[in-house]
Amino acid sequence: MSSSTETDYKFEGWAGLTADACKGEMSFQSFEPKKWDEDDVDVRIQYCGICGSDVSALSGEWGPVDKVAPQICGHEIVGEVVKVGKAVENDLKVGDIVGIGAQSDSCRECESCKNGEENFCTKQTITFNAPYNRGSAASAGSVSRGGFAKYWRGPSRFAISVPSTMDPASAAPLFCGGVTVFSPLSEYGAGTTAKNVGVIGIGGLGHFAVQFASKMGAEVTAISRGENKKEDAIKLGATKYIATGGDVKRGIEGHQRSLDLIICTINPEELPIHDYLPLLRPHGYFILVGVVPKPLAIPAFSLILANIKVGGSNIGSPAIIRKMLDFAAAHDIGTKKSPSKYIQKYNMNDINKALPDFRDGKPRFRFVLVNTDNGGKL
Ligand SMILES: [Zn+2]
Ligand SMILES: [Zn+2]
Repeated sequence: MSSSTETDYKFEGWAGLTADACKGEMSFQSFEPKKWDEDDVDVRIQYCGICGSDVSALSGEWGPVDKVAPQICGHEIVGEVVKVGKAVENDLKVGDIVGIGAQSDSCRECESCKNGEENFCTKQTITFNAPYNRGSAASAGSVSRGGFAKYWRGPSRFAISVPSTMDPASAAPLFCGGVTVFSPLSEYGAGTTAKNVGVIGIGGLGHFAVQFASKMGAEVTAISRGENKKEDAIKLGATKYIATGGDVKRGIEGHQRSLDLIICTINPEELPIHDYLPLLRPHGYFILVGVVPKPLAIPAFSLILANIKVGGSNIGSPAIIRKMLDFAAAHDIGTKKSPSKYIQKYNMNDINKALPDFRDGKPRFRFVLVNTDNGGKL
């Protein structure tokens, strides 16, 4: 192993061992990091957001937890680079503040990788519990370990510098929750071709979507079940609010054909998508980022009638993450000057309180775990 610096640190973190992990059963222990490659970095983790996918994996929804235990989840990581390999990418140096999102590696050889769209690589590695499988790398077969830990090791291509004006705690949830909505908002022209944007679900993802879309210059309609998110949605930049009251068909009355683009962040067991589609103007897009378990039922006529398109969007490439961070810095979203009022911080040592609170629906709108002994600030 060679590196530009040698420091004495251990890979330890909070592991999920059984499907009860999120009920307060996470166990602090050492773990085997990824085998070192020369394009890797080691990062001293200061902050890590909690995303719904962590909770799904730790609750056994993606398969038995003990089969891939210890599960070190967490994929909204921000921390300080403490070691770089000889073949480090992105000019990263020891001392840089970087973030890592849901993706930690890709094959580098396929069309998507060559186009800088690594998030579409079919051989990609997600940040937790997944094998590294780049054939040429010494680490092939290593398992990815996420951010509910003291240190992270992985390919430098996926460790993205956090602009110095950004508040690092506010930046953490941007790496999954933020980019997941920023990407389709920019792809489908929020504020330019899509002047009127609807956001379904005002939560961890939706609250970012409302902020980004409004700063992109769109008129934003927030769509939620009840009235309880209205005040926050307006503060975040929405100008209209639709409370469906659980009956979408009735809830949207009077708002038909008002939107050019809808970002759907919710993931109920079944989504009454055909009840939302009349909200779209001709040529409109309905883009899903929440994984709805049941297949969608869409009458063809509701699409044909007004040239409506229904699609999906998968996280964002390193290039898109960079674009999002620059946008956030330029528009004062989560900067040091204006840190997010919409995150709640927990000491990472209190993860066994944070995860049950997350499952109880308490985030308004994102939880961020803080490693105070690594320089994170509560
Ligand atoms: Zn690839
Ligand atoms: Zn996520």
